[in-house]
Amino acid sequence: MAEVEADVAVVGAGLAGLTAARALRRAGASVAVLEARDRVGGRTLNHDLGDGKIVEVGGQWVGPTQHRLLGLARELGVGTFPTYGAGENVIEWNGELRRYKGTIPRINAAVLADVAQAQWRLDRMAREVPLDAPWQAPKAARWDAQTLESWLRGNLASRAARTLFEIGTEAVWAQEPGDLSLLHVLFYAHSAGGFDALFDTEGGAQQDRFVGGSQLLSLRLAQELGEAVHLQAPVRAIRHADGEVALQADGVTARARRAILAIPPTLCARIAYDPPLPGHRDQLTQRMPQGTVAKCMAIYDEPFWRDQGLSGQSTGVRGPVRLTYDNSPPDGSPGVLLGFLEGRFARQAGLMESQERRQAVIDTFARLFGPRAASPRDYVERLWAEEEWTRGCYGCAMPTGAWTEFGSALRAPIGPLHWAGAETATVWSGYMDGAVQSGDRAAAEALASLG
Ligand SMILES: Cc1cc2nc3c(=O)[nH]c(=O)nc-3n(C[C@H](O)[C@H](O)[C@H](O)COP(=O)(O)OP(=O)(O)OC[C@H]3O[C@@H](n4cnc5c(N)ncnc54)[C@H](O)[C@@H]3O)c2cc1C
Repeated sequence: MAEVEADVAVVGAGLAGLTAARALRRAGASVAVLEARDRVGGRTLNHDLGDGKIVEVGGQWVGPTQHRLLGLARELGVGTFPTYGAGENVIEWNGELRRYKGTIPRINAAVLADVAQAQWRLDRMAREVPLDAPWQAPKAARWDAQTLESWLRGNLASRAARTLFEIGTEAVWAQEPGDLSLLHVLFYAHSAGGFDALFDTEGGAQQDRFVGGSQLLSLRLAQELGEAVHLQAPVRAIRHADGEVALQADGVTARARRAILAIPPTLCARIAYDPPLPGHRDQLTQRMPQGTVAKCMAIYDEPFWRDQGLSGQSTGVRGPVRLTYDNSPPDGSPGVLLGFLEGRFARQAGLMESQERRQAVIDTFARLFGPRAASPRDYVERLWAEEEWTRGCYGCAMPTGAWTEFGSALRAPIGPLHWAGAETATVWSGYMDGAVQSGDRAAAEALASLG
């Protein structure tokens, strides 16, 4: 069993943990990073298509207001390129395919007006939620006692508008409107700068991609940290007393004065603590389930949909894939169609045999883009609920009652233990940008407490 000593031990080598470790190192503190997997990057993961071409099976997009992530990429020399969006989008509506340009689909005007009034009201409510303390919103108790689903039922006139909101909810949280506290949805939208920023490609969270794949950021950070990063070292137990923390991982024990846990809250609950965590904190982590996502890509010799004037962006209302994108490399070769199985569709697809799931995804692509989509030369998928060290995605979200009863435990340090990870961010919570913010914040906290 190897033994390491450092000022601060960091659990998790995703973007949050690596950002924290780099900030600590730069401030003169020594660090040891303990990572469960045999790789860094956590919820970001590059997949090699051959010939130096990359697609990501985890987080990939960056938006224009994600300044921390863009700043980090600049520092690390990782460039961006725009998500392919030329041409027309497709929506499957009342059983037929309709093409349209821009963000507003060509469907019934009354349904569009219904969606717009609801989104306008939700945006206005979201601005009332304090980002560092959502439970202090003037109407926090009322909003946290209901789900997004119950609010939509009371505030949308048409069933079709509810369906569109359901698709949007699955796209952002990989959960269903009935799973989410309304207060959480409002907090999340506020933390992103509004609902349009969450949903949009141009101007929103899906605007750009990283050259060489998003995992490159973590790979470069880890390179800088060198031997301080210990892979295949899942932390199983944490003991703390008398100003010292002992972390027991497979194959390595770390001693430190502070620890930063940069892992999803729901995974924090799987570590054994001595002394045990206060009930308030533990009960929070009992209430933050991960969403369910399978990210699926079909690979073609070329992006044939572009020749038909299509952007590759589509909304397949019937599912099981409800959203698609053109995810081809910057030079457009090979052609890659990306489809998400999210929320209830991902839960159902997770129960299928892999061949059956693949067929269901390809059948949806063929329905949306024609018979050529039925014969990809390759297929890549990643089911994040099956990943032992993530257990779902895109992140952990709050059901009713969690923010108002337990929210104050999300970031509050416990003795020498500090909490990081995308879920703990106040800006772009749940995103890579939020992970970076959380790493910097936790590092600053640990440094301040070290004196
Ligand atoms: C399919 C998918 C698509 C996404 N799309 C986007 C997107 O387009 N844009 C965007 O901004 N975000 C996206 N996200 C979310 C984004 O990837 C995450 O918010 C971000 O990467 C989280 O970083 P993190 O460091 O907080 O957590 P993680 O990346 O989860 O890192 C935590 C690390 O801790 C390790 N770990 C866990 N338990 C232990 C333990 N006990 N001991 C040691 N190590 C442990 C894990 O292996 C992991 O490496 C997506 C996520 C997924 C999965």
